[in-house]
Amino acid sequence: MGSSPTIGTQMQCSTAQKNINSFLRETLKGNELRKTYYHLKNCETCKEVLLDEFSFYTTFNDLDRDLGFNYERNLKKFMDKIGERIKSRDDKLTSKYIFASVMICIMFLIILIIALRIAYK
Ligand SMILES: [Zn+2]
Repeated sequence: MGSSPTIGTQMQCSTAQKNINSFLRETLKGNELRKTYYHLKNCETCKEVLLDEFSFYTTFNDLDRDLGFNYERNLKKFMDKIGERIKSRDDKLTSKYIFASVMICIMFLIILIIALRIAYK
C-alpha cells in the first residue's frame, strides 16, 4: 500500500483508496469528494485500484448497458460526470462569494453616503 503522498495531490493514497467505495456509490461530499476525485484522477497507482473496483462494481450494477463492459470508457464517463459536478459546485461557490463581496461594497457605499449627508447638513 503506497502511503506516501503524491506530489500535487493533498490526499494520501491509503485515504483515497479507502474512499473509492463511497466515491463509486456517490456518497462522498464536498471537500472529501473533491480531494478524492483529483487524487484518483492524477495518481496512477490509485487509478488502477479504482478501475479494479469500478469493474467489480459495474458488474453488479450495470451502469450503462449501451457501453457494455468497457470499464475504462465507463470509468472515464463516470469520472467526467463527477468532475462536472465538482466544477459546477465550485462555480456556484465562486458566484456566491462574488455576490457577497458586491453586496458588502454596496452597503459600505450606502453607509458612506449617509455619513457624508449627516456630516454636511
Ligand atoms: Zn494514490
